[in-house]
Amino acid sequence: MNDELVRLVDKLAAEHSLSVDEYEALVTGYSPDLAAELAARAVTVRQSIYGRDVFVRGLIEISNFCRNNCLYCGIRRGNKNVDRYRLTEDEIFECADEGYSLGFRTFVLQGGEDAYFTDEVMCRIVAGIKSRHPDCAVTLSLGERSRDSYRRMREAGADRYLLRHETADGAHYARLHPAEMSYENRIGCLYTLRELGYQVGCGFMVGSPYQTAKNLAADLKFIESFKPEMCGIGPFIPHHDTPFRDFSPGTLEMTCYLLSIIRLIIPPVLLPATTALGTIDPRGRERGILAGANVVMPNLSPTSVRKKYELYDNKICTGEESAQCRGCLDARMESIGYKIVVDRGDAAGFKK
Ligand code: SAH
Repeated sequence: MNDELVRLVDKLAAEHSLSVDEYEALVTGYSPDLAAELAARAVTVRQSIYGRDVFVRGLIEISNFCRNNCLYCGIRRGNKNVDRYRLTEDEIFECADEGYSLGFRTFVLQGGEDAYFTDEVMCRIVAGIKSRHPDCAVTLSLGERSRDSYRRMREAGADRYLLRHETADGAHYARLHPAEMSYENRIGCLYTLRELGYQVGCGFMVGSPYQTAKNLAADLKFIESFKPEMCGIGPFIPHHDTPFRDFSPGTLEMTCYLLSIIRLIIPPVLLPATTALGTIDPRGRERGILAGANVVMPNLSPTSVRKKYELYDNKICTGEESAQCRGCLDARMESIGYKIVVDRGDAAGFKK
């Protein structure tokens, strides 16, 4: 292994910070040996905080209607081949009830930016879940909304919000999104959510079209300075009905490498081994945990809609019942010596 790169790993582990140029050197200096070294350190750090516990989040995909036209996303407004659906309030409550009985204590409501889900409707859903299951956390992942909307949903009981920044480089952001979307607004939303007292998650796709090592270095520096409680990263996977259909997917190796680096930047961060990682490799989620991740997010959506929430091609777990997904992940985690726990799974050191 290159001494200079090992020195950077030492520095990152000790100081949880590198310069942008150093992050770039680490990204371009990828080698299987260096990845193994980073993973070993990331696992040690994760183990010292969370042991061998893996937190589980029940993902409920509430709608695939979306007003946005992100170039990478299968449910973009411009995709006329999507069979659009939205869950009713009762269907959402049923998913949460079923999840609760399966041991989930966090529910993530994710969807496209669907005007049907007004503040009033969302507040009713959030409050409804919290009153049925007061010991659970509710996480929202509904894209960009106004400060007032975020505030109202927070007051209704929402605990966390996932909004991937997608890329920390404005020029790269503009190549992934249509002109009507803005990098500044996306980042502004993250700071607003933080101010309102949400536990906030940012994140990005690994290997998205036009992404450079410099872009990834900027992502890592942004994560270092924003210090999110959660960070979602997964490989970009092309969807056949999008402008990015012919781009190559991101790799398992680079995703795991970046997971390890992010663990060292923010030791207590909640880091999922994502469904996209499980999609590009049959043991991708296990590999993610072994690189330093500590969260998995199985699907709790009704089986009837799962295929319709297709952000990218070949998404896994679209045929299974929720209980099967839960059992499958239990077995996968057990196979590598980890254990899914029944717990809200707040970030260590974060006040409730
Ligand atoms: N509308 C919400 C939820 C978006 S879907 C929002 O704007 O936040 C959640 C994440 O899936 C996105 O943030 C994006 O990073 C990821 N995603 C979308 N298309 C993808 C693709 N083709 N491959 C991999 N990940 C994708």
